[in-house]
Amino acid sequence: MSLGRHAFLEKYEQQPSVRYFAAVEGVWIDSKPLLAVAYGKQHPDRGPLSVRLFSGGEETRRALSRFGIELVSNAGETRQVVYGGIPECPPGTAFRDRREAFDAGVHRTTQAGIAGQAGGTQSICLSDGYSDDRIQGDLITYTGFGGRAPNTDRHIADQKLEKGNLGLVENYKLGRPVRVLVRESVLTVRNADNEYIYLGLFAVTNWGWGMREGWKVLIYQLRAVAGESLIPDEVATALTRGEDVTPPRRSAQVNRIIRNYDVAASVKRLYDNSCQICGTRLATAAGPYSEGAHIRPLGIPHNGPDTLENILCLCPNCHVLFDGHALTVRPDSTVMKLGSPIGKLKVMDAHGLNYEHLAYQEQFSTANSGRSADS
Ligand SMILES: [Zn+2]
Repeated sequence: MSLGRHAFLEKYEQQPSVRYFAAVEGVWIDSKPLLAVAYGKQHPDRGPLSVRLFSGGEETRRALSRFGIELVSNAGETRQVVYGGIPECPPGTAFRDRREAFDAGVHRTTQAGIAGQAGGTQSICLSDGYSDDRIQGDLITYTGFGGRAPNTDRHIADQKLEKGNLGLVENYKLGRPVRVLVRESVLTVRNADNEYIYLGLFAVTNWGWGMREGWKVLIYQLRAVAGESLIPDEVATALTRGEDVTPPRRSAQVNRIIRNYDVAASVKRLYDNSCQICGTRLATAAGPYSEGAHIRPLGIPHNGPDTLENILCLCPNCHVLFDGHALTVRPDSTVMKLGSPIGKLKVMDAHGLNYEHLAYQEQFSTANSGRSADS
């Protein structure tokens, strides 16, 4: 399955070059669209171009220099910690090596499997050394870092819930996905396949401790985010057959909703993870746990904003009851449970809560339960 020429060029227009720009009479031009044009002129009769040409970087630079165009690298620029997708790199982008993936911003470390800190993890890379990792359908079982002997996958110590390992737990708590990069050989089981494929965004759906060779390890379950990632098993099948990797079909409606993880994090910080309705503060082995609950739901038909004024800090029980239309809040902050008052919503001034959203939620919940808002 390769992209048709038209689709390919259409794709090109949305994908500026990450690393190389062509300096043409002092004006910087994205290098890859330039290559597409140059290639087209050179080989008008050739078949569709492979999506692998997106591997860009050094390959693009060499190809363009054959057309007499020299490129300037902008790799020196500093980049911030970035969560979520990289606009220039759709799932399926191939990289010659870890350095190219680093420069593209997909995985900002050339050695470690985890790019992250205690506060959050941005990306992971699956390579051959980690024989504990497993891929099944759209699920990845991933083992944390540390506790291994250098240059082998033998365990010689317990892993620790720190740095990127702890960061993955933070991602789990926030529902914030990680980018997943994989060495081709992990998918094809052919050691000569040494490019790296970006699979897209994966949600951390579970984490816990396990044992390997008598030592404690951290085990994470990750699941492909629909429309934002490729299914690892399907990529493995395509690569093994020598086919190109088809980018995921994107669902416009789903993808318009960009969840703002920083907002959820700040509402939890504001209330120190205590539930605004019942006051519960859950202590887990990885620290306190609470959930950011949207008052007016995101997406069609509600179109609630993803901002602090529309988010409550709730315990999981109250979150389920709130979303399940059992809990509503009156304009005077009285919390109603199935129509009966049970207490007051705790609200900090700094929260800037918008009561119009609460009124909307109450109306919408009452309509869904058959109760009257005034009873
Ligand atoms: Zn609660």
